[in-house]
Amino acid sequence: MIPKEQLSAFIKQEAASLGFAACGIAPSEKLDVDMQRLNAWLKKGFHAGMDYMQKHAELRANPELLVENAKSVIVFLYNYYPSKMMDENSPYLISSYAYGQDYHEVIREKLNILILKLKEQVPEISIRGFVDSAPVLERAWATRAGLGWIGKNSMLISRRNGSYFFISELITDLELEYDRPMGGNYCGDCSRCIDACPTGAITALKTVDANKCISYLTIENKEEISETFRGKYDQWIFGCDICQQVCPWNKYSSPHNEPAFEPPPSLMEMEKEDWEKLDNDQYKILFKKSAIKRAKFAGLKRNIEFLSGAD
Ligand code: SF4
Ligand code: SF4
Repeated sequence: MIPKEQLSAFIKQEAASLGFAACGIAPSEKLDVDMQRLNAWLKKGFHAGMDYMQKHAELRANPELLVENAKSVIVFLYNYYPSKMMDENSPYLISSYAYGQDYHEVIREKLNILILKLKEQVPEISIRGFVDSAPVLERAWATRAGLGWIGKNSMLISRRNGSYFFISELITDLELEYDRPMGGNYCGDCSRCIDACPTGAITALKTVDANKCISYLTIENKEEISETFRGKYDQWIFGCDICQQVCPWNKYSSPHNEPAFEPPPSLMEMEKEDWEKLDNDQYKILFKKSAIKRAKFAGLKRNIEFLSGAD
């Protein structure tokens, strides 16, 4: 039997060689306090139309229901901070996480490689990977694995690396060496994200009301965009990075070196007119492998028309 310290070091080493910026390990346990926080958020209706957030509460609270006899939750951060952001010179803005290929696929592939490598060491384990696609409270696990704290903007923030990360997890019945949970909160007196949010969506500490959040309104939202938001959107047509852009901890962000996350040159060269004339065929070519497909063509078109109508 390989000692757990050795296995834990092996996992972290393999994660680094696959390009993960950080990896931490937490003991699997029930997330009662985090579930109370989630339930309070749901009760206020802050999930807007994301009804799926109300489902699978049991699974979210208890990793053992996802992997039998779960002992460890291994959490990974994958950097998506781009070397060049769309800025005020861009006619419309897309959240930087969606510039390149869909992160679900890119990270899923890496987790699968890691699972194979781990099974070469310990063939009998049960293990499952999660990339923002199953009922896992990923930020809660990331803090437990010592990777950061949940900021006032509700993002996971790392003291070393800022907040431009995708979070993913492996849950396994393997016992490992555990990292110390992140105890502190290093937001201090700062309120930059709250002050900068153009729609007032950050309603209390660590609480974002999706009904007002541009990220929700431009991606998950299936309805028309309310006139109350006219003039408050800046130029965002898919997601919003404002509460990350203003966060002082992001001065520690450094550009990713994941080729799959590079935007196609044609995306960065789009003129205002190109966006406004975008048709379904062009949309399919431009966003063939992109997470932007999540907004569907009609949704993206609605977002563009909402802003172009504001001119
Ligand atoms: S993503 Fe944009 S709209 Fe949503 S909370 Fe952050 S700043 Fe506000
Ligand atoms: S902008 Fe300030 S308050 Fe908001 S998450 Fe960053 S450090 Fe915390």
